[in-house]
Amino acid sequence: MAAAGGFGSNTYRNGVNRSSLKAENKSLAANQSFKSSSSASSSSSFKSRSLQFRKSSPAALGGANGAARDSGGVPGRVRVAVRLRPRNAEELAADADFADCVELQPELKRLKLRKNNWDTDTYEFDEVFTEFASQKRVYEVVAKPVVESVLEGYNGTVMAYGQTGTGKTYTLGKLGEEDTAARGIMVRAMEDILGDISLETDSLSVSYLQLYMETIQDLLDPSNDNISIVEDPKTGDVSLPGATLVEVRDQQSFLELLRLGEAHRFAANTKLNTESSRSHAILMVNVKRYVKEKDPALSMENGSNSHSAKNFKAPVIRKGKLVVVDLAGSERIDKSGSEGHTLEEAKSINLSLSALGKCINALAENSAHVPVRDSKLTRLLRDSFGGTARTSLVITIGPSPRHRGETMSTIMFGQRAMKVENMLKLKEEFDYKSLSRRLELQLDKLIAEHERQQKAFDDEIERIHAESEMEIAEAERKYADALEKERMKYQKEYMESIKKIEEQLVGDQRKHDNDIATVAHNGYYANGEVSSISALEEVADLKKLLEKETILKKAAEEELTNHKRQLYQSKLMEASATSEILKLRKSLEDESRQKEKREGEIALLQSQLLQLSFDADERRRRLDRAGSGNDSNDLDCLTAQVNNPQLSDSENGEKASVAKLFEQVGLHKILSLLEADDADVRIHAVKVVANLAAEEANQQKIVDAGGLMSLLNLLRSTDDETIHRVAAGAIANLAMNETNQELIMAQGGIRLLSTTAANAGDPQTLRMVAGAIANLCGNDKLQTMLRGEGGIKALLGMVHCGHPDVLAQVARGIANFAKCESRASAQGTKTGRSLLIEDGALPWVVQNAKNEASAIRRHIELALCHLAQHEVNAKDMISGGALWELVRISRDCSREDIRTLARRSLASSSTFKVELRRLRMDY
Ligand code: ADP
Ligand code: MG
Repeated sequence: MAAAGGFGSNTYRNGVNRSSLKAENKSLAANQSFKSSSSASSSSSFKSRSLQFRKSSPAALGGANGAARDSGGVPGRVRVAVRLRPRNAEELAADADFADCVELQPELKRLKLRKNNWDTDTYEFDEVFTEFASQKRVYEVVAKPVVESVLEGYNGTVMAYGQTGTGKTYTLGKLGEEDTAARGIMVRAMEDILGDISLETDSLSVSYLQLYMETIQDLLDPSNDNISIVEDPKTGDVSLPGATLVEVRDQQSFLELLRLGEAHRFAANTKLNTESSRSHAILMVNVKRYVKEKDPALSMENGSNSHSAKNFKAPVIRKGKLVVVDLAGSERIDKSGSEGHTLEEAKSINLSLSALGKCINALAENSAHVPVRDSKLTRLLRDSFGGTARTSLVITIGPSPRHRGETMSTIMFGQRAMKVENMLKLKEEFDYKSLSRRLELQLDKLIAEHERQQKAFDDEIERIHAESEMEIAEAERKYADALEKERMKYQKEYMESIKKIEEQLVGDQRKHDNDIATVAHNGYYANGEVSSISALEEVADLKKLLEKETILKKAAEEELTNHKRQLYQSKLMEASATSEILKLRKSLEDESRQKEKREGEIALLQSQLLQLSFDADERRRRLDRAGSGNDSNDLDCLTAQVNNPQLSDSENGEKASVAKLFEQVGLHKILSLLEADDADVRIHAVKVVANLAAEEANQQKIVDAGGLMSLLNLLRSTDDETIHRVAAGAIANLAMNETNQELIMAQGGIRLLSTTAANAGDPQTLRMVAGAIANLCGNDKLQTMLRGEGGIKALLGMVHCGHPDVLAQVARGIANFAKCESRASAQGTKTGRSLLIEDGALPWVVQNAKNEASAIRRHIELALCHLAQHEVNAKDMISGGALWELVRISRDCSREDIRTLARRSLASSSTFKVELRRLRMDY
C-alpha cells in the first residue's frame, strides 16, 4: 500500500498511489468518464431531442475505434458513483452536534471520510453526488449511458450497493407518482427506451425477480417461487427460462408491473418473516431490435457481381439486456440482530452478497480464479462484472458518524469495483431464419409459376393437335365421298349411253335388213328413192346423238376439273396444318429450353443461398478466431472457454451446408453451371466447386463427375482472372491426390497452368497456380513429363512477382521435385544432373536460402540438402555458391533434422570433401 501526501497528513489511497490514479483518470478522460459521457451525450441530447435521443456510436463507449467489433470487444471499466443521503429526522435530532462523518468535494470527485477530529482518508470516484443531487442528474450520469448502450445492442447493468436506509431503493426504484422529479432510475430508463424503439419492429420485455436465501422468486407471479438459472454451454450466457416475461408497450403498463412486483415482494417477505432489505431485487429488460440502416462492415461481400445476393442479405438483430439490481443491505446481519435468525440462516442470507464481494476482489486483483459459481447472485451477474456488459454502480452512504464502519466498508467495495474491467461486446446476430423463410417463399413461387405455365402449355398443344387431326380427317372423308359419288354417276351415265347406242344399232340393223328385202322385191328404181330418204334420216339422228354425247362429255370434264380443284384445296389445307404443327413443335422446344433455364436459375438461387451461409459461417469463424486470438485479457477467460465450442459448431455447420449442397442442387447441376453463358453464374459456380473441393470427402466425387476436366476447361476457355484464381485453387486442392495428379498431367495441365500464370496479375492467382504445380512436383512418376512440359520453368517464372506466398509455393515445389530426384538417384533410376539445375533453378535457390520468411527458407534448405545427395550435382553446386549455404545450414539451421541432413549430404560427397579441404574448412 502506498501512502501519499497532499490530502491531509495520512491520505489513504486504497492501494492506488496518486500518480497511478492520475494516469487512470487521464485514460478515463480519453475513454469515457461519467462526466464526459453524461454532459456530452445527455445534456446535448436532452436539449436537442424532441422524440429521439442522440445515439452515441459504439466507438464512443470506450474511445476504441470501429475495429472493436472484429477484435471481440471494447474495453469498458465498471463506473462507480457515490451518493450521500440527506440527514433524516432521526439524524437531525440525534447527531445535531456532530459533524457528518464524510465531507464531499464533488468538483474534484473526491470523498473524505473522517477518521477522528484531525485525520481524514480521501477517495476518488467516477462521480460524487452530494445530498442535494437531483434524481434526474443521478439518472443521466449513472444510468443513461448504460441505457444508450443497451439500445445499441450491448448488455448493461445498473446496481446500487449500500447499507439499509441509505437510499438504494430511492435511487433505483422510486416510482415518483406524487412528484415526478423523484422518479428513480428504473422509471426513467424505461421512458428513454420506449422513446427510442419502434413498437412495430422492435420488441421489449421485462422480468422482475427477488433473490432471497439463494432462492429466486418471480415478483410478477408469486406461485413461481423457485426459478433456476440456466447457462448456455456454448455462449456462457445465463438466462431464467422459468421467469415470467411480460411484453411492455407503454410506460403505464410498466409502472403497473413495478407496482405489482412491489406488492408481491411485500407479501413474499411477510410470509418469509423477513424484510425487503434482506433480499435482492432484480429487474431485467430485454430489448430486441432489427438493424435498419445498411452497415458496410456487415454487408455481404461480392455484392457487386451478384444481384440476388444483395436482395437476400440476412437481416441483423441486436439484443441488448438491461439489468437493474437493488441489492440487499450491505450491513452485516449479525449486527442488526433483530430478525432472530440462526447463524446458518444469517450465513445463507448473506451468501450472495459476500460472494459478490469476493468476485469483485478477485477481478480487481486480476486473480486467476474468480469464484463466480459460489452464489446465485454472482452467477446472474457474471456478465456484469468481468463480462461483456457496460456496468455502472451507485454506492449509497448516510452521513451519520454512528455508521462510520459500514460507510467505510461500502466505500472500500466501491473502490475495488472501480478496478474491474469489462470487455463490451455487441450482441448482434444474423437472422438466418427469416432470410431462409424469404428464400423458400421465393423458390416456391417460382416453382408454382413454372408448373402452371407448363400445364397451360401442354393443354394448348394437346388441344391444337386434336383439332387439326379432326379437320384433316373430315377433309379426307369429304373428298373420298365426293369422288366416289362422281365415279358412280359417270359410270351409270356411261352405261346408259352405251345401252342406248346398242339399242339404236340393233334397230337400225333391223330396218336396214327390211329395206334390202323390200328393194329386192319391188325393183331397183322405186327402191333407190326410199333407201336414200331413210339414210338421210339416219345421219340426222346420229348427228343429234353425237351432239348430245359431246355436251355430256363437256359437263363431265367440267365436273372433273372442279373436283381436281377441290382436291388441290384440301391438299393446301393439309400443308398449312402441317406447318402449324411444325410451328407448335418449335415453340414447345423454346418452352422446354426456358424451363431448363429456369431450373438453372433455381439451382443458382439455392447455391447462392448456400454460398451466403458459407460466407457467413466463414466470417463468423473469422470473428470467433479473431476473438479468441486476442484473448490475452485474463478477465475474459470466460469468453475463451466459450469460444471453442462455437468454433467446432460452425465447422459442423459448414459440413452440413456442403452435404445440403449435394443433396439440394446436385453436383452435376453445379458442374454444368461452370459452362453457363452468364459470367456471374460461372464465377459463382466455380466458387462453390472450389469450396467443395476444399473438403477431402468431396474430392473424389468431384473428379468422378468430371469436375476436374471442367475446371481445366475453364482455365482454357475464359480470360476472367477471378475464375482463373478460384479454379486454380480448386485444382491445387484436387492435385493433392496421386491419381488426380496423373489426370491433370494427361490433360495438358502444366501448359494450362503455365499460361494462366503468364497472364495473371493477381499474386493470389499465382499462389494457387504455384501451389498446384508444387503438388505435381511431389509425384515420382511425373518428374520427366512435368519438366518436359515446362513445369520447372513455369515455377521459376513466377518468382518475379516477389510475393512471399508465391515464393513459398515455388520453394515447396522445388523441394518436392528435389526430393523425388534424390529418391530416384538412390534407387538408381536416375543418373544425370538434376533437372532443376538443368532448368536454371540453382541461382534463385541460393539467393533465397537465407530468406526471412521461414516457409520459403525451410523448403529451400530441404531442396539444397536433396540436391547435394547426388554426386553429379556437386560441381554445379560448388560453382553456384550452394556449398556455402549447405555448410551454413549444417551449422545454423534451427531444425535439427535439416541440420543432420545437410551434414550427411556434405559427408557423402567426395567432391564436397575435397573442396572443403581446399578451403581449409571443416563441417
Ligand atoms: P435502502 O433502499 O437503501 O434501504 P431507501 O431507499 O429505502 O433505502 O431509503 C431510506 C429512506 O431514505 C427512505 O425514506 C427514502 O425516501 C429516504 N431517502 C433516501 N435517499 C434519499 C435522498 N437522496 N433524498 C431524499 N430522501 C432519501
Ligand atoms: Mg431498499
